[in-house]
Amino acid sequence: MTKRAYNFNAGPAALPLEVLRQAQEELVDFEGIGMSVMEISHRSKEYERINEETQALFKELLGMPAGYEVLFLQGGASTQFAMIPMNFLGQGQAAGYALTGSWADKAHKEAQGIGETYVAASGSASGLKRMPVPGEFEVRPDAAYIHITSNETIAGSQYAEYPDTGNVPLIGDLSSDIMSRPVDVSKFALIYAGAQKNLGPSGVTVVIVRSDLLERANKRLPTMLRYDTYVKSKSLYNTPPVFSVYMVRLVLEWVKRNGGLQAMERANREKSALIYDVIDSSGGFYQGLVEPGSRSLMNITFALGSEELEKTFVRESEQEGFVGLKGHRDVGHMRASTYNALPYESCKALAEFMKHFQQRHG
Ligand code: PMP
Repeated sequence: MTKRAYNFNAGPAALPLEVLRQAQEELVDFEGIGMSVMEISHRSKEYERINEETQALFKELLGMPAGYEVLFLQGGASTQFAMIPMNFLGQGQAAGYALTGSWADKAHKEAQGIGETYVAASGSASGLKRMPVPGEFEVRPDAAYIHITSNETIAGSQYAEYPDTGNVPLIGDLSSDIMSRPVDVSKFALIYAGAQKNLGPSGVTVVIVRSDLLERANKRLPTMLRYDTYVKSKSLYNTPPVFSVYMVRLVLEWVKRNGGLQAMERANREKSALIYDVIDSSGGFYQGLVEPGSRSLMNITFALGSEELEKTFVRESEQEGFVGLKGHRDVGHMRASTYNALPYESCKALAEFMKHFQQRHG
């Protein structure tokens, strides 16, 4: 048996072992063609099928209504920060951004370089300890769109409920929680996500876009920065990241085999509860960084009493086979990322480790 680490990395992150094994098996000979997926034309019938099946799996698993397109782009979610305002933020309009943490801030800064923006909601009054609730959003009727970050990967906060923006298009960065729970796609005009947390390896960015939004898009943009380029070509305008898309297909098949998004949410709730329960019953030894109602099921952030103790925690956890528990370099403290593919046993092991650590150092 291969020894697998307790992988709490924030992204790139754990992938299902079954998926890795399947990819390994198919690596040198994909479906009997004597070549790997990386060695065949993106115009081949084999790759076209991968492309189409992956799009279909998105539609099926997310229960997407008609009128949406699934696109595969490159450049990461960070390129979407710019592409969105370039395409949809026209002159004389403003776009509203919900400022809930580092990723929302990055998206907002990028938009500010391109057009007018306003702060539609903010988490800074709470010290980023909670997400805004729907009633706290300022939805200007003439806004170009409202942008939210469904899960702040660094702060460890996640929306319990998305705002209703009426006729104003809602755009969501779902990079770190897509496929982790059911989502009402019809609330959104556009959803985007880098793959490297819940979907597969890095290299592909998924965009789900409602057709009517495309009609208002800026037509005076370079070809590769226009969404309609990807719609018209079924994401085959130029050479796509074929291996990444193939891996996403395997991961989505795994999600489907394991019961779909409701089952993912149930498992993610159970997994994260193991760790949040240790935090809450530690009498202040561990301090959660986010209020319970906004706690992320994907990125669990917590502090210990001192920087020294946090260093000891990281060192001892590494000695016991835990990987990735050090918080993001911008904020410090601890972060345990518990994406779909992270096994229950890894969370159980971390909860036990945390209890023993408190016994030793509390
Ligand atoms: N948005 C969120 C919520 C993220 O977590 C990340 C990456 N951690 C990004 C955007 C940026 O993604 P990429 O590295 O794919 O550009």
